[in-house]
Amino acid sequence: MTPTVDYIKSCFDEYNALFFGNSLPPIPVKLSSARTFLGKVTFTRRRSWLFGPLRNENFVLRINTRLDLPEELIQDTIIHEMIHYYIAVNQWKDTSTHGKLFRREMARINAEGNRHISISYRLSKEQQIELYPERKEQIEAFSLRKSQKCNKHQT
Ligand SMILES: [Zn+2]
Repeated sequence: MTPTVDYIKSCFDEYNALFFGNSLPPIPVKLSSARTFLGKVTFTRRRSWLFGPLRNENFVLRINTRLDLPEELIQDTIIHEMIHYYIAVNQWKDTSTHGKLFRREMARINAEGNRHISISYRLSKEQQIELYPERKEQIEAFSLRKSQKCNKHQT
């Protein structure tokens, strides 16, 4: 499916209530046709006064609409981005992009909500071609080589 802004906003509201105790403030939602991510939360870091601490603000949630993805994957992507938002909007510091805090929240939500949120997602050959039509031949040749290798292993 291809999500709309309204769809993403209604998912956001539902998961905010289910998994974050409605603690997340509303966030502007934008659709993206980038080739490099399925979802992304962007923000700026700024001091509100001269010697004040750096604070994260101006949040935007971007969800990719270039690929036709299964609904469950789109929902998991929205929740994944909401975990990033949850950490950033609370001004918490994680050990890395998908550090201890992120993984703890991901594990909690996967267990509570029976979801399959992950920190990486491997695109199928068809999805790669959809993203990079000009590389169709290389992508097909590559997966052909890979499957030949597999066949060799099996015999
Ligand atoms: Zn992430």
